[in-house]
Amino acid sequence: MRALTVAPGQKRSLAVQDVPDPEPGEGQLLVDGIAVGVCGTDREIADGDYGWAPPGRDRLVIGHESFGRVRSAPERSGFAAGDLVVGVVRRPEPVPCGGCARGQFDMCRNDQYTERGIKQLDGYASQAWTVETEYAVKLDPSLESVGVLMEPTTVVAKAWEQVERVGDRAWFDPHTVLVIGAGPIGLLAAMLGVQRGLDVHVLDRVTDGPKPALIADLGATYHHQGIEEVVDRTKPDVVIEATGVGQLVFDAIAGLAPYGIVCLTGVSPTGRLTVDAGSLNREIVLANDVVVGSVNANLTHYAAAAAALQRADTDWLRRLISRTVPLERFDTAFAPQRDDVKVVITLQDDTR
Ligand SMILES: [Zn+2]
Repeated sequence: MRALTVAPGQKRSLAVQDVPDPEPGEGQLLVDGIAVGVCGTDREIADGDYGWAPPGRDRLVIGHESFGRVRSAPERSGFAAGDLVVGVVRRPEPVPCGGCARGQFDMCRNDQYTERGIKQLDGYASQAWTVETEYAVKLDPSLESVGVLMEPTTVVAKAWEQVERVGDRAWFDPHTVLVIGAGPIGLLAAMLGVQRGLDVHVLDRVTDGPKPALIADLGATYHHQGIEEVVDRTKPDVVIEATGVGQLVFDAIAGLAPYGIVCLTGVSPTGRLTVDAGSLNREIVLANDVVVGSVNANLTHYAAAAAALQRADTDWLRRLISRTVPLERFDTAFAPQRDDVKVVITLQDDTR
């Protein structure tokens, strides 16, 4: 079968290769890959800046935003041929730490976890793959055209769970949320905010392309002015930051309503930023603000994401998939284009 592989640490090493067909072990599903999504992490791996091959190998099958259809399943596993499934990205480490021992592998304390398509485990960008039944999540057949959005939705499902857990430390009745960045993570975070009945505002730089209409059609408000102005006008109770732009993070904290919560989901490049640490400290202390980081997702977040996708307007979700590229043309999927939202690689159609 064909798979998209990469030599981690090596620039421009992405290639479609013939690899052996997967053999399902005991308790595993055999899945025909439908598609994988491409995100910033995949581009970092492709640029040689991130990722780890499996022990003893040079190359890794990339792809962690999975979506496929079950070809075969163990008896009494709860899965059957034809089911739509997504494979979970992370696996707990064998030590395990206290988090991993409790199913909270997304909160691993010692970084010895592994991740499909990222860290030491082959990913899902192959025409067939196997997955342990306990790390497979079934999707409703109505989500056939948008199932590839599941993994990014798990990331925002966790972010919202973190916001609510932090909020529940005292009386919490949020009304307004500001999402910074209208990429797939920001748009899906906004969708979950609308589902919670909140007044949702989204800030991005663009003034054209698909993003303003996507946000308006969600019932949210789009902004493209400076962050200080937007924060001042909206006085958000919650900020979900999805760009990783350091300055925006600090500007958002500075303008929060009292008892505000900022959830950071974007990863900043390292580098110096001039910050008035004293003002920041005063702001956070005197307003009981919290800044919380959130990454990855465990099985509870996959369940929450599946429910959120089920509740969402499928036509709206479909518009998030702005480009679909066949496996043999993967290079175009890894070259960002203007107006991209989510770029997807299809795994079957181009091989016949
Ligand atoms: Zn752990």
